[in-house]
Amino acid sequence: LEHAAGMPRDGVLEDVAALLSLHDVTAIKRAERMRADFVANASHELRTPLSTLVGFVETLQGPARDDEEARDRFLAIMHEQAHRMARLVEDLLSLSRIEQDEHTPPSGRVDLGEIVHAAVETMEMKARSRGSSIDLVATAGLPLVQADADQIAQVLQNLIDNAIKYGRRGTPVAITLQRSPRGTLAGGRPGIALAVADQGEGIPREHLSRLTERFYRVDPARSRAMGGTGLGLAIVKHIVARHRGRLDIASEPGQGSRFTIHLPVAEPPPSSN
Ligand code: ADP
Repeated sequence: LEHAAGMPRDGVLEDVAALLSLHDVTAIKRAERMRADFVANASHELRTPLSTLVGFVETLQGPARDDEEARDRFLAIMHEQAHRMARLVEDLLSLSRIEQDEHTPPSGRVDLGEIVHAAVETMEMKARSRGSSIDLVATAGLPLVQADADQIAQVLQNLIDNAIKYGRRGTPVAITLQRSPRGTLAGGRPGIALAVADQGEGIPREHLSRLTERFYRVDPARSRAMGGTGLGLAIVKHIVARHRGRLDIASEPGQGSRFTIHLPVAEPPPSSN
C-alpha cells in the first residue's frame, strides 16, 4: 500500500488494487494472529497438566516416598492429568486432520439414522452415570446424506457429550432426526436436520457467537472440571463446514440448549445403465 500511495494516480483501478491489497494484508495479519494465539493457548493448556504431573512425580520420589496412602491418591491424580493431556492431543490432531481436507468434499453416502443409533449406544453408559438418558426420535425413510461417516460420528459424540456434561443431572438428552425446513441450506439444497437438546443451564446470549472458537469456554473452571478440552465445538464447526452444512445453536438460559446440524442430502447415485 505504501508503494501504491506514492504512485501517480492513474485511475480507479489502482485505487481498487490498493484497497484489495490492504484488505489482503489485514486478512493475512488476522490469520497469523489467530494462529499465534492458537499455539499459545494450546501450549498453555498442555503446560498445566504437565506441571501437575512433574510436581507429583517429584513428591513421590521425595517426601511421599514411603507414604502408601498418599501414593495411591497421587497416582490417581496423575492418571487423570495424563488422560487430560491425551484428550487434548487427540482433539488437536483431529482439528489438524480436518483442516487438511477441508477443501475436499466428503464422498460417502451415509444413512444418518445408523450413525445416530450407534452414537446413542456408545454414549448411553455415560448418560446413565449422570442419572440421565438419551431419547431418540427419528423420522423413518429419510434420504442419505453426502458425508464422511466417521466425522459425523465425531460431531454427534461431541454434541451428546456436551449435552450430558452441561445438562442438569437426571434430565434426558433429546435427539431428533428429520428433514430440514425448506431453504435452510444455501442454494436451496434439501437437507437433513440432526438436533441434540439438553435441559441444562443454557448459554447466555452474548457467548453464542464465540462458542465454536478454539478454547472458548463460558465457564473455564467448569469445563475443565468436566474434563473438557475447549475444542469440541471447534471440531464440530469445521466438520460441518467441510460438509457444506450448517450449525444452529439455540439456547435459553435456565432452560437448556439445542445444537442442530443440517447436512445436504446426497445426489442420487449415477445410474448403472
Ligand atoms: P468443552 O470441552 O469446554 O466442553 P466445547 O468446545 O465442546 O468445549 O464447548 C465450548 C463451551 O461451550 C463449553 O466450555 C461450554 O461453556 C459451552 N457449551 C457447549 N455445549 C454446551 C451445552 N450443551 N450447554 C451449555 N453450555 C455448553
